[in-house]
Amino acid sequence: MATCGEWNLLRTLGSGAYSEVKLARHKQTNDLCALKIMKRDMGYDSGMTDIVRNEVEIMKNLSHPNIINLIDFSDTETHTHADGVTEDVFYLALELANGGELFDFIAQTGKFTEEVARFYFHQLCDAFEYLHGNGVSHRDMKPENIMLDNEFNLKLADFGFSSNQAKNESRKGTDNYMAPEIHLGQKYSGQNVDLFAAGIILFIMVAQHPPFNKASPKDPHYKTISANRSDLFWKLHSRNKPNGLDFFSPEFRELISSMLSFDPIQRPSLAEIRASDWYNAPVPTYEEIKEEFNQRKAALDGASSQEDQPVPTEEVDPSVFTRRTVHRGVGGELEDGAKLPSLDRTCMEYIPEFKRYTQFFSKSDLESLFNTLALFADKVTTEFEFSPEEYSSTLNILQEEKMVSMTVNILNAGDDTYCIEAVKDSGDRFVFNDVYNKMKQFFGGHANASEPTAEY
Ligand code: ADP
Ligand code: MG
Repeated sequence: MATCGEWNLLRTLGSGAYSEVKLARHKQTNDLCALKIMKRDMGYDSGMTDIVRNEVEIMKNLSHPNIINLIDFSDTETHTHADGVTEDVFYLALELANGGELFDFIAQTGKFTEEVARFYFHQLCDAFEYLHGNGVSHRDMKPENIMLDNEFNLKLADFGFSSNQAKNESRKGTDNYMAPEIHLGQKYSGQNVDLFAAGIILFIMVAQHPPFNKASPKDPHYKTISANRSDLFWKLHSRNKPNGLDFFSPEFRELISSMLSFDPIQRPSLAEIRASDWYNAPVPTYEEIKEEFNQRKAALDGASSQEDQPVPTEEVDPSVFTRRTVHRGVGGELEDGAKLPSLDRTCMEYIPEFKRYTQFFSKSDLESLFNTLALFADKVTTEFEFSPEEYSSTLNILQEEKMVSMTVNILNAGDDTYCIEAVKDSGDRFVFNDVYNKMKQFFGGHANASEPTAEY
């Protein structure tokens, strides 16, 4: 088993540009955490040290119920891979967000009503009030950095780009969520750009798709806002909605339009957001949220247990498993043909304490499931690799000019049941969810699932 210091590494939870995040169990206490691991050699020549130090220095001083807390940190640890190869790393042991990413939940169980969105928006604003009040801005607000805990509370993650400066210049963040002033290369306020991204996130919670691709006057959706024609923006977005413009309440439209203004001066402050009509409308109680979410989860679990549907029985050319088998390091780089595939893969263990919404269960046997994964990979990917050690594969998919890389793990859930879970490694989250749904269908016996298509 792979280890890092006192932690056993169970499997990958996700990865970002600079790190790999592993589900880890403490060797002595058995506690679970999310271990964010960064290679050290990569760090010293790429400014990585600064990013990690910054993340640790900022997180050390933070503690809030809607923020992922830092449990431990080490800058001199050895990461021992399953095959015995070792590597010098930094790590951050983070409080585990057992509920996975909020947006996987929305993508899999449906959009939120404005009331439910308000509940989470309140929690997000609580996190911002705390952060901004402490002089910290997050600067990388996006769906994949918003997680849920076991109790369906929002947890803000990933402080890698956070800043304690009032004015910032460096271009940090992710293109689709950046405020226009960052695209323009201007000096900007970290707190302003956090609130801009919060507007995008709120829109996505209710609409289930982003408001625009990029906050640039050239973007077909954003140009309506930058030209002060938010009426056109809402007209465009209402076209495919069941009840047209009424899909969004007038108070919602007003708040979003102002939060997404081109000119930062015109955007409401946090206090003004909190004073808005939309913010102050009724909110579900915590009990109501729990009840609704448990129902959503139960419906999803029911729909995703596919015991009665055998996987497709098409023959797989055995070379599929070996011809593109490569080794993957912490940095994600691939060393082609580094190792011959081992014939004794071990099946990773399913950890019931950690849920994600992009997983389903099957009672088919392990080899058939693995074959099905190979068939699927062969059909939809531009490139894929199988792990030589585990029942796991990394798939690279190009769809509508957007690339997504995902890892699919087959886990042993006991009782002859296997869990098939998808983890997004990089790329577009909406494409990822689309591909995940196609895969789920494919495993359900619909072997002629059509090519994936993105909704947006
Ligand atoms: P990066 O700075 O490289 O983007 P993140 O901190 O955003 O790394 O983590 C990458 C991914 O790992 C996240 O999108 C999420 O899926 C997963 N992850 C991160 N932190 C946690 C956590 N505390 N609990 C569970 N999963 C996590
Ligand atoms: Mg991240």
